[in-house]
Amino acid sequence: MEFRNANECISCSSKKRKLKFSYVGFNEIKFDCYQCKECSLVYGSPQPIINDDSINEIYSSEYYQNYFGANNDYVEVSTERNLILKKRLQMEFEYYYSFVKESESPKKILDLGCGDGRFLEFFVELGWDCYGIEPSDFVSEIARKKNIKILDKSMLDIDENNKFDFIFMDNVIEHLDYPGQYVDKASELLNESGVIVIKTPNSSGLLEQIEYMVLSYCPKFISKGIMKLLHNKYSIGSGTVHRYGNLHPPVHLSLFNRKSITKALTASGFKNKNIKVLSGSEYFHLWRVKRPKPIGLFSNFLKFLKRLGDFTKRGDMLITVAHK
Ligand SMILES: [Zn+2]
Repeated sequence: MEFRNANECISCSSKKRKLKFSYVGFNEIKFDCYQCKECSLVYGSPQPIINDDSINEIYSSEYYQNYFGANNDYVEVSTERNLILKKRLQMEFEYYYSFVKESESPKKILDLGCGDGRFLEFFVELGWDCYGIEPSDFVSEIARKKNIKILDKSMLDIDENNKFDFIFMDNVIEHLDYPGQYVDKASELLNESGVIVIKTPNSSGLLEQIEYMVLSYCPKFISKGIMKLLHNKYSIGSGTVHRYGNLHPPVHLSLFNRKSITKALTASGFKNKNIKVLSGSEYFHLWRVKRPKPIGLFSNFLKFLKRLGDFTKRGDMLITVAHK
């Protein structure tokens, strides 16, 4: 895999930035983490050069598997967790759908990184024409069986006349090498009154900010010790400091907050008044699903922090809904 130095913000192209943190991560490469002074995007340098080969290399790598337990996400078992996730997705769908303008004409949706098509299923039910882009053959095969058309190309290569009424990007923009270009393209592909939903980790989230502070200000042996403890005792993280919060190239290449996502959208032609940015955790009031009570002091403390994050509008996840 090849890397390039990112000398400017990968969203707004500004060269003004502040170095926040450096660490040695993937393949023993030293990564610098910057925050753009113009749009506030947090991004790493060097950046991987994204192509078919590097995508395969990143997402089949031991680094990715170990870190995320990537395959677990798609195991089709009706465990309690899966049921909770399904219920929550249903509530999310209902919320997003409230932004869609009713009309008689048949509608089209594109889900970038559609996985096994679990979100698109709701739209298949409604009779929408459903398209997905998904680099993993294993899960896209499952999506195909649900009457979802999988496009075998980059979103950037979709013909501009092929318009959509809804574009969904769930935890995908942080994996993209030039996220600003994708937002521009989404704007171009949306019909008049079309809706875009972008979900991505929030760089201004409370937990994220705490992690930044620990990494930036604590002596290294303390942050290393915390990471080890979290991994060994609570199976959180990888046990070493090899990221800056949720930023960890070559997987997560940039992190947005309210300001940076709004700037990216307005630069692509969306009007400020049509952009709604929320942030929330798994306890977020809009789609909170009843789940087993957390056990143990640490889990309860984490729950408290997540709720506090939601309350102060500093939830872990940034949820942006915009329409033309
Ligand atoms: Zn920027």
